[in-house]
Amino acid sequence: MSSTVVSQAPILAKYLDLPQKGKVIAEYVWIDGTNGLRTKGRTLDKKPKSIDELPEWNFDGSSTEQAPGHDSDVYLRPVAMYDDPFRRGDNILVLAETYNSDGTPNKKNHRAAAAKLFEAHKGEEIWFGIEQEYTLFDQYGDVYGWPKGGFPGPQGPYYCGVGTGKVYARDVIEAHYRACLYAGVNVSGINAEVMPSQWEFQVGPNLGISMGDELWMARYILERVAEDFGVKVSFHPKPLQGDWNGAGCHTNVSTKSMRVEGGMAHIESAIEKLSKRHLEHIGVYGEDNEKRLTGKHETASITQFSSGVANRGCSIRIPRSVSKDGYGYFEDRRPASNIDPYLVTGIMVETVCGSIDGVDMVAEATRD
Ligand code: ADP
Ligand code: MN
Ligand code: MN
Ligand code: MN
Repeated sequence: MSSTVVSQAPILAKYLDLPQKGKVIAEYVWIDGTNGLRTKGRTLDKKPKSIDELPEWNFDGSSTEQAPGHDSDVYLRPVAMYDDPFRRGDNILVLAETYNSDGTPNKKNHRAAAAKLFEAHKGEEIWFGIEQEYTLFDQYGDVYGWPKGGFPGPQGPYYCGVGTGKVYARDVIEAHYRACLYAGVNVSGINAEVMPSQWEFQVGPNLGISMGDELWMARYILERVAEDFGVKVSFHPKPLQGDWNGAGCHTNVSTKSMRVEGGMAHIESAIEKLSKRHLEHIGVYGEDNEKRLTGKHETASITQFSSGVANRGCSIRIPRSVSKDGYGYFEDRRPASNIDPYLVTGIMVETVCGSIDGVDMVAEATRD
């Protein structure tokens, strides 16, 4: 198949060099009605110094499952901006929240509610680090690089693997890593996963709401890089049935008091609170997560809460080094790869630091 799917990089290069005559392109990125991403670009007269200088914008929500046809305008309010690794120069990527015409947050704008919780608890200086796992497919819908009509050998050599036949698509991963660092997204690491063509990147530690912002932006950059290579990204938590690992979004958490001497008592108290809201948390930890949280493949049961030091078969793991030091952070291993990180970080701060009037993250997840 001759490919219009893959970018014609050498031809495009001729045009990318053209001067923009002082104009700046801002690509607005938002979350659509299906937990996917949409973007559109606009020209600005100069590079904005801060978010406040960026104009509010809008789009047709009836085409993105975000509004009915008779009242289709959805508004985009910029919340964060990054250097654009694709267009370079002064061009930027803009992350935007979505609002309905009556001024209420759009149904998939869970950032607005989470931001209120972080504001209320800002004294706690809550940090997150999310490990985003994902799987690559080729343009025909097969797992990228797998033998046609067959399977690679069983899991074992692939996790953090090196060498032909053990890792697939490293060029995609490398490009994504560089592009995130250029953009100013706090990617802290990257590794090949247990299932071949499954990979992970980590974002964090990030303060409060910026965790969700940067994870979404890292996902956008990944989708965009993969487009160049003609590769598809899947965030499904169990992309393949059988003896293949699922994909998660382990969420590492610490408050200010957990990070200093005596912190273990605060970690234990948080785990105690989490144990009492297990099913509420599971409710916002991603769709199809029951296919992944089976108790096998380094996961815990979806119905039962558990915690332990260095135990990767638990809901919550306290890293060995944290247990040894007596302070640090804990890891929630339950969230699926397809989470909305605003829901997950939001319910985490709600449970660990306390609820506030007018915000309920469980109800938020299903709000229309
Ligand atoms: P794993 O051993 O589970 O694969 P990783 O190294 O992939 O762990 O990820 C660990 C994550 O923990 C990183 O995203 C890192 O940013 C995050 N992290 C480290 N320290 C803290 C902390 N104090 N609070 C929150 N997150 C943290
Ligand atoms: Mn990891
Ligand atoms: Mn992992
Ligand atoms: Mn982990």
